[in-house]
Amino acid sequence: MAEALAGQGIPIEVLPPGEEGLERVRLNGSGVLVCPPLEEKDRRQAAKLGPSVVILEIMPDLASPRRVLNSGGAQHLQLPSQLLGGATVALAWIGVLASDQSRTVERLGKMLKVISAFRLAGGAEAIYDQLTQELVANFGFKRSMLFLRRGGQMELRSFSWPSGSPELIEMLSEALEDDPPRLRPEAPEFEALSLGMATPIPIVECGFLPAPAREMMAPTRELALVPLFSDQELLGVLTVDYGDQKDRMLTQGDLALLDTLASLAGAMIYNSWLYLELEERNRELERKVRELTVVSEMTRILNSGDDPREGAGEMLAVVAKVLEADSGFLFIYDEEREELRLAGDYNLPPHAHGLWQRIPGLPMEVLRELPESTQRRLAHGDPATDWPMLPGINGPALVHVLRTQARVVGLWGLGRQSGRQAFDEGDEQISAIADNQITVALNSLRLRHLASTDALTGLYGRRHFRDALEQELKLGCRLGYPVSLALIDVDLFKKVNDTHGHPAGDAVLANLGACFRACIRRSDICARIGGEEFAVIIPRCGEECAWSVAEKIRGRVLENPTRWGDHDLPVSVSLGLATQEASRELTREEIIRRADAALYVSKRRGRDRATIYDPAEDQETWGTL
Ligand code: GH3
Ligand code: MG
Ligand code: MG
Repeated sequence: MAEALAGQGIPIEVLPPGEEGLERVRLNGSGVLVCPPLEEKDRRQAAKLGPSVVILEIMPDLASPRRVLNSGGAQHLQLPSQLLGGATVALAWIGVLASDQSRTVERLGKMLKVISAFRLAGGAEAIYDQLTQELVANFGFKRSMLFLRRGGQMELRSFSWPSGSPELIEMLSEALEDDPPRLRPEAPEFEALSLGMATPIPIVECGFLPAPAREMMAPTRELALVPLFSDQELLGVLTVDYGDQKDRMLTQGDLALLDTLASLAGAMIYNSWLYLELEERNRELERKVRELTVVSEMTRILNSGDDPREGAGEMLAVVAKVLEADSGFLFIYDEEREELRLAGDYNLPPHAHGLWQRIPGLPMEVLRELPESTQRRLAHGDPATDWPMLPGINGPALVHVLRTQARVVGLWGLGRQSGRQAFDEGDEQISAIADNQITVALNSLRLRHLASTDALTGLYGRRHFRDALEQELKLGCRLGYPVSLALIDVDLFKKVNDTHGHPAGDAVLANLGACFRACIRRSDICARIGGEEFAVIIPRCGEECAWSVAEKIRGRVLENPTRWGDHDLPVSVSLGLATQEASRELTREEIIRRADAALYVSKRRGRDRATIYDPAEDQETWGTL
């Protein structure tokens, strides 16, 4: 039966039968005694035992269970031995006893409840209150306090005294907070506490409590101090007392119960502390893992690509996933055009994509004023933010302004859908790391850009031309405007070199660069794509418009011969024009081929002229690129 009870989680030590068991039960004042039929003198002893004792007398010849009434009030049952074959039956009898309000059994049952409540209680704080409240609500004590150790002091963490007046409760808690209890080695209770046992102590002698608190508890004569231990470590002290029931003294049964509860509570509290600490460490670890993921993934992307812009979308995807964002964007500030241009995005909805390519309305002053990292709700047309419309981001956003030596070079950020939680501090720490990586990427892009700028003419180089053309063609199609391309080749340039020398030729090329620049809008892109070959990308410009730009260029070149020494070096240029209409997207290669075919026609017809591509004349190309 002992095992069966233990299996149910009831911590009963089944006492040995006979005289010895009886004596122990008598000394303890409580307990469950399972014994063979009692002899007469034992029976007389048993009759005097108090209500905290349960006697289960096993009788071989009995037909059915029988109750024995004793003067002392102990619950005494005689049970037929054949009934005890199964643990279930025995436990059923314990249940009978419980319904008969045997105090001990009832307390055991309640203890079971408290234990399971501990298991369910979430976190240490909940256990503290559970403990003091249960002691008062279920075990007959009037007042219970829980102190936990912090350094050399004991802090009041939970206080249950339902029958106390609010004023008294407040005064008492204040007294305990003002002068927290201490464990003094010279105090009488110290030794018992250090042995880990619940100790009854007269209030007047209780060195643990400060004097004002002792006075306030005055009508009570005695309280139990119960140490809470875990692994040799004193976690705190629990107290219970019978409040104003000044004649009621603590029994051995009370102390045994408190000891059992204390050892359970100590383990539970310690475990919940460990759990909290573990949780904290887990969070820390998780953050580190997220940081490392961002760093290593981004470094990989940076190292794998030739052009960091190509990795922009991928980088944003990494950060967005780690920070659980729904979308991301990276704009690069184009100094020449004074515009932010989308260099990459993650998961922006298709309808937002085109509109995102440029934010002409974004005032640079707004950007310059922003701190390094800023979290804002970027709402459509929200006047409070001064931000332009940023489609695709309708919830919390985390925005970083990219700066190099105090100059704004770009803007990147992440967005969550509306209704989702804002980014927290941990997210900001990780995005700051991503920000560093993106800044590195942008700087290398800027270096590449400088390298791709042609030193002689100051125009874009061939590589940039190809990237920009691809982007502009796509954009034109999406936003519904035509994009034109002009290829320019200097006429009979070889002669300039042959007649005046290579440096003179260089001077002519530099002068041509200035001429072209003077003829185009800021949104056009002019590049030197070969030795004496140039290109102009003209967005928002159809055939007619391209023709007029070409004529303007041709005229300006004629009017501005290069000054070399004391004479002029006149040159002319031939142009080939091709246009992508808004409705029909061309590949980059195709529009170059068409412009080149038109250039061939210009040359063939005598140079110094512009030609619009005509499919009917699409026979041969000049071979510019
Ligand atoms: P066409 O009207 O048929 O184009 O005649 P062209 O002489 O311009 O044609 P060609 O392609 O035969 O000659 C181009 C010349 O441009 C040859 C090359 O020496 C010269 N050139 C290319 N790059 C440079 C440069 O950077 N500096 C100078 N000075 N000359 C260059
Ligand atoms: Mg040429
Ligand atoms: Mg030429």
